[in-house]
Amino acid sequence: MAKRWYEGSCHCRAVTFAIHSEPIVGAMRCNCSICRRKGLVMSLEYYPPGAFELRTGTQALAIYHFDEKSVNHYFCKHCGVYPFHDGTQSPTVTTIVSTSVASMRSISSDCRSGSSTAKTRGST
Ligand SMILES: [Zn+2]
Repeated sequence: MAKRWYEGSCHCRAVTFAIHSEPIVGAMRCNCSICRRKGLVMSLEYYPPGAFELRTGTQALAIYHFDEKSVNHYFCKHCGVYPFHDGTQSPTVTTIVSTSVASMRSISSDCRSGSSTAKTRGST
């Protein structure tokens, strides 16, 4: 299937972004301590440099770190939505972004609701 650009945003739209991806047909529920509390449904893919564009909102983004501080958890300072994250340590990971599926437009409602295509990532 052909790749296309998917657009996403925080709730107040101060932060807008896009990812270039194969059709997004599944999602996962991460069970780490922060994702459990937020109830996040994440993309199955991590997107490399060039497949992610932060279009607006650099000044609106804040970063939360915890534990080993290996992940930048970005959230909007205005509405509090957490649309994506990336890694802090490995050069091959720093620009990889995993998006919150609920922040994306043009994704099927089945995917957004965490239907049977949703998987659970086992982690800390
Ligand atoms: Zn916002």
